Amino acid sequence: MIIFKTATAIQAYLISCKLKGQTYGFVPTMGAIHEGHLTLVQKCRQEVPIVVASIFVNPTQFNDAADYEKYPITLEQDIFLLEQAGCSALFLPTISEMYPKGIANLPQYSLGNMATMLEGVHRPGHFQGVCQVVDKLLQIINPEVLVLGQKDYQQCMIINKLLELTNKKINIVIAPTQREESGLAMSSRNLRLSDSQKTIATHIYRNLAWLRNQWNTSSLLPHQMESIVTKQLLEVGFTSVDYISICNAITLQPLATNSQSVRAVALVAATIGEVRLIDNLLLD
Ligand code: AMP
Repeated sequence: MIIFKTATAIQAYLISCKLKGQTYGFVPTMGAIHEGHLTLVQKCRQEVPIVVASIFVNPTQFNDAADYEKYPITLEQDIFLLEQAGCSALFLPTISEMYPKGIANLPQYSLGNMATMLEGVHRPGHFQGVCQVVDKLLQIINPEVLVLGQKDYQQCMIINKLLELTNKKINIVIAPTQREESGLAMSSRNLRLSDSQKTIATHIYRNLAWLRNQWNTSSLLPHQMESIVTKQLLEVGFTSVDYISICNAITLQPLATNSQSVRAVALVAATIGEVRLIDNLLLD
């Protein structure tokens, strides 16, 4: 795996791939690589011969400075894991390489109400930051395939919208969420959980699975199921629950009734101590 720190260097490499007729896909990450990220690399390898990954902890998508400062960094191990998984190239830019003119006047995107619901309510500006970094990375890498994780469900929809807005013909592939045996969705932020907090965290998936079951078998209304889950999460030790919301899986509009005719997804964000976790599950 070749490591590139500048846009010019990786672009020269990618041009040489193109000249050899080799297509490539792209897996953007913020590092602290785990099995979830590696599944994205594998998915990408099924689509194209060359996988380019990136590691960049993007400051513009963090609305909470402490969350940014505490974001786990495990670079040496990341490089080892990505290479083992079959990445051909890793883009590892600095902040000034990504944003040479600083971060004050970066583009703003017309993302519509998709960006102001759920995560958008609790992390103002987060999706603008995601689009700033993904847009810039795609301009540099210009892949044929972009692989994203379902773990960040709303982010997948936002990036889809970004591709529409920027007229990019890139094929998005969404890989399913990888979980620990306990059901806990793998996440770089799990590294910040103590053992007892990790046990509490497993209740997110348990409750999502309960919701899926209720959705398919009971006559409870979405808001009733949501309040049962919120109460349950707080009882087992979550510090706060930002949202648990059953939504239309395409528009992300909250569902008021249990109608089996629309595809539904349950999305959740909850905090244990200082660590905020998100997860989701398709209900049908
Ligand atoms: P991150 O490094 O957290 O920004 O994530 C980089 C990519 O990996 C995103 O597309 C995430 O959705 C994806 N990802 C993170 N965790 C998982 C997981 N547990 N399973 C599948 N994909 C994941």
